[in-house]
Amino acid sequence: MSSSPFLPLPPGLEIVSVETVDDLLKVQVASTKERAFCPLCHCPSERRHSHYTRVVADRPCADFRVQLILHVRKFFCETVDCSRKIFTERLPAFVEPWARVTVRLRQALEAVGIATCGEVGTRLAQRLALPTSPTTLLRRIMALPTDAVGSVKQLGIDDFALRRGRNYGTVLVDLVRHRVIDLLPDRKAEPAKVWMQAHPEIDLVSRDRGGDYASAASQGAPQAAQSADRFHLVKNLTEAVQKALVHCRAELQREPKRAEPVDPPAGEESALSSVTSDGQAYSAHQAERYERYQQVMALHEQGMKTKEIAKRVGLGVRTIQRWLTQGEYVETNYHHQHRSRFDAYEAYVMRRWDEGCHNMQLMRDKLRKVNPPAKPPRPFGVAPDGYNAALDLSHTALRAESEGERYTGVLHRPTLAFALRV
Ligand SMILES: [Zn+2]
Repeated sequence: MSSSPFLPLPPGLEIVSVETVDDLLKVQVASTKERAFCPLCHCPSERRHSHYTRVVADRPCADFRVQLILHVRKFFCETVDCSRKIFTERLPAFVEPWARVTVRLRQALEAVGIATCGEVGTRLAQRLALPTSPTTLLRRIMALPTDAVGSVKQLGIDDFALRRGRNYGTVLVDLVRHRVIDLLPDRKAEPAKVWMQAHPEIDLVSRDRGGDYASAASQGAPQAAQSADRFHLVKNLTEAVQKALVHCRAELQREPKRAEPVDPPAGEESALSSVTSDGQAYSAHQAERYERYQQVMALHEQGMKTKEIAKRVGLGVRTIQRWLTQGEYVETNYHHQHRSRFDAYEAYVMRRWDEGCHNMQLMRDKLRKVNPPAKPPRPFGVAPDGYNAALDLSHTALRAESEGERYTGVLHRPTLAFALRV
């Protein structure tokens, strides 16, 4: 039997016999080629030296695992000046030298691994009668050759953790093809600079807002424009919005209650009516903290453990333990109304905005000249480059637009009032 539709073999190989052992097909296969080619000098030889057997796994056949016992031969190399005197015949299109699986089985495992991952791929492969392990799948994927980098017009660069908190590398992405094109072993500026110098065709570098990659791009690709990538822009915007809103938390919570006044239950102390020991109303921060205290006590009474409470309310375990030990709420020993540095410049910014100046950077520069702050150089007090100040205001405005009704009661805050107008 030269071959079988159920188990196709390349020319030069013949099935000698088939034996079934449980779910395994043991197939004896013999090589029938008259000659073989020396792997060094590539000259043919018909002079046989000996033969031996190789056992390799093949793709399954009708849910049977397949094991091939290959009977192959060794030949003498008859080229006089060839250093290889004896060689084994090669079957490169079917089984690679030293391999224990056929090429087609390896390709099947690679396809499963690429489509899934180590653990899931192993479970899927098991159902397809392709027994393997997660480690093997990952090793085969990592052994795949990478594509050539080619021409890169728009480059994305960022770091990634090989081991979080310890080792970091750099990932380089072609933003046109949306593909990872290279990895660097660290996140320092020098390797990234060298990499970019080898690609003078780069027009745009999208990076984080740190200094290393900015420096690498400036030196390695001075012809390219640089921009902050979307992830870091959104991250900065989120932090700016949170920073702007956290100081208004109490006011935001108070507003719906103004619209629909509800009498607090008798005997229950409300955070909004709380005053400090010196008779002043709680600041936003104090009100928020007292609200969390009440939440902690309620969860504790429900039998929740300290760690779970800390996780639920976003406080440290020690704070929770201290509150539970004290038995009563101890107010924080400060009382202050949060003030943004923006407040001092509200009138000027409002006027300039109405006059048509919507450029935050320009407004900041003029603000420095017209009314230099006592402690320069950050009139908005958000970021050294003033960029976050604009993001702070504009994004607060976006949030305000979607939650406009909730903001109506806190318009006395200059930052939010301005943000709403923006
Ligand atoms: Zn040779």
